[in-house]
Amino acid sequence: MSRSTALLVAMAVLAAGLCTPAAAGPQIPGLPKSRELTEVVKRANQLRDLVITEDEEIKLGAGVSERVRARYGVVQNAAVHRYVTLVGTLLVKKSTRPNLPFRFIVLDTDGVNAFAAPGGYIHITRGALGLMASEAELAGVLAHEISHVTEKHTLSAIQKNKLVQIGAEESITKNPELWGRLVDVTSDLVMAGFGRGEEMESDRDGLAMADAAGYAPAGLGDFLERLSERNQKTSGKQGLFASHPQMKERLTTLDKEINARKYASAVALADRYKANISYTATPVAEIATVEAGSAGLAGGTTKPAGGEKPAEAPKKKGFGLSGLIKPAGTEKKSAEVTGSAASRGVDTERNAKGGPVKTMVAVKVTPAELDAFRKEGNLRS
Ligand SMILES: [Zn+2]
Repeated sequence: MSRSTALLVAMAVLAAGLCTPAAAGPQIPGLPKSRELTEVVKRANQLRDLVITEDEEIKLGAGVSERVRARYGVVQNAAVHRYVTLVGTLLVKKSTRPNLPFRFIVLDTDGVNAFAAPGGYIHITRGALGLMASEAELAGVLAHEISHVTEKHTLSAIQKNKLVQIGAEESITKNPELWGRLVDVTSDLVMAGFGRGEEMESDRDGLAMADAAGYAPAGLGDFLERLSERNQKTSGKQGLFASHPQMKERLTTLDKEINARKYASAVALADRYKANISYTATPVAEIATVEAGSAGLAGGTTKPAGGEKPAEAPKKKGFGLSGLIKPAGTEKKSAEVTGSAASRGVDTERNAKGGPVKTMVAVKVTPAELDAFRKEGNLRS
């Protein structure tokens, strides 16, 4: 029995709930002998737990970020990056992975969006910053994205997407072809967004993180509400957003959670936000987009590792930042600017045109600078 066949059998066994240590259990007809089975079950368990070191996770995130930056470009403004990094770093300190080296990247697009890649690569768009009214709103969105990383939502999605065969290769980081495929697949997942369960979890975690840092936890809801209004005002059908009931449910849940947990932090810092961020939101109808079929990152790359079974497109049962739903893997690579697409019912935020420069803006914040920033804002240590 080949290793991959044995692996599939073991996974079937696991799925059927027959996962007893093979050496101790009865022999099941058609399955490999006990020692081999033990080894196979061990490997399948590793798969289930998606054994990936933190270094590999960061490397994967770097690859995904490169794809995201290639799609949207990066705002070449050190002051803006510094400000977002200061707010983000205060939140990371309150997260469950305070020592992960997070990076905050401002994407050069009018589209309102945010993407969290594994290993701590947090991307937020210029359009999102332009729509925000306070530092508490920025903190709310960043905390939500940080939670996607700390809870390893993307890594779990790789497993669920039956792409685990890739992750199972011990030499994955040393095999450029396999590694490239994993980065492509992960990029598509990050772009497509998460399911409802993950989004709700990150909403909850994000509230706790923002409150712990001293930010008014209503920031996330306030921002999402404004985003919802903005998209409802457009004359054209905004993807699935206009009639999407989930945003209302999400906002209600956020309010309930704030009340239930008795979160009482109240720092909003609208003035400091305006002093640091001067972008304004572009109306949806005026946003230049690329063709709906060309906005993806790695179109056509969500093919299965083994080539036997087509990979499932990332399933979206919930909502992303904008509440719009579009699987990423179905799109072509070439990007052609076509002007506003709001009236044609496409996902304008995601299909928005990106900027030309892809280079990351490196920001170094010292502990003393972070502390001064925190104190100035009356935030918690
Ligand atoms: Zn999210």
